Amino acid sequence: MQLYTGLINHYKDRLPVDENTKFISLGEGNTPLIQLKNIPSLLSKNVDIYVKYEGLNPTGSFKDRGMTMAVTKAVESGSKAIICASTGNTSVAAAAYAARAGIKAFVLIPEGKIALGKLAQTMIHGATIIQIKGNFDDGMRLVKEVADHAPVSIVNSINPFRLQGQKTAAFEVVEELGDAPDYHCLPVGNAGNISAYWMGYKEYHQDGKASETPVMLGYQAKGAAPFIKGEMINNPETVATAIRIGHPQSWDLAHTVKQESNGWFDALSDEDILSAQKLLAEKEGIFCEPASAVSLAGAMRDIKSGKIPEGSKIVCTLTGHGLKDPDSAIAQCNSEDMIIIEPEITKVRDAILNEGID
Ligand SMILES: *Cc1c(COP(=O)(O)O)cnc(C)c1O
Repeated sequence: MQLYTGLINHYKDRLPVDENTKFISLGEGNTPLIQLKNIPSLLSKNVDIYVKYEGLNPTGSFKDRGMTMAVTKAVESGSKAIICASTGNTSVAAAAYAARAGIKAFVLIPEGKIALGKLAQTMIHGATIIQIKGNFDDGMRLVKEVADHAPVSIVNSINPFRLQGQKTAAFEVVEELGDAPDYHCLPVGNAGNISAYWMGYKEYHQDGKASETPVMLGYQAKGAAPFIKGEMINNPETVATAIRIGHPQSWDLAHTVKQESNGWFDALSDEDILSAQKLLAEKEGIFCEPASAVSLAGAMRDIKSGKIPEGSKIVCTLTGHGLKDPDSAIAQCNSEDMIIIEPEITKVRDAILNEGID
């Protein structure tokens, strides 16, 4: 028997753990890298696009990669409780890994602004939910102060163990492709993840496991684009709630990534984000949440314009599963397209033939 027991055990030589560390794991990591078959030809461009489907982590987002490390280290240091501010997925991962470890999780979320699936997950795992009448940035400010007032470990991405765990996604990409891709596209909120991937790619390059490092491309939503504006913003707004962030915590790290990798940041409208989400679902059978679709929307735009040249190998990270946010998926589909009939075979036949399949 050879169980896959999660990314810390798999990459323990490259992570800050030792033989006495008790790993808190739900089998995260080892997610599929799927080559897109239909979208490249729709773009009429000769490119290889792969998606790293992080929605298939145990709680449905890449946050599990960082949380397995953060909770492992919190427990190792004797902590009995963790806390985070979250747009949703960090609180889900914190809740699940705290449940696994038998410790308490406190999560600060913006009132009314988290997707339904994420709320359900956080509740069922038994976290204490503190809704704040404010946004993620307000929650983050409070979490940074609370450690001085209460015995809790912060598990936001300002916790360096989070990025250590998240860098393993870059290792997996290199191992599957046999080398680094030419371009790696990511949605950017706090910019922890793009910084973690860059760490991972650089580490594998330095150790000779990859012959090059990719150009890193970070995409934001237009209404929440401090990196494109060049300064923090106060009232971020976007349908992509996971990246509805105006004061990114990894501001300096992200600028270093851009500079060192010769990459760029850009912003996309909510409309472009949602249509990329729908295209991926309809043409490739892959369902991601709106924030994740930002990476594909950005890649498609830059492929079309030629900024990403033909012949390139491109990886887009799909950060979270589409089921996280059922409301925004349903809102994009026309419920009038649903066919309602009497329970008779002739009606079913007509419904099929009316679709005009040949
Ligand atoms: C957290 C999150 C992001 C943003 O990642 P950062 O590290 O904050 O840049 C993007 N998409 C989803 C689904 C997320 O949960």
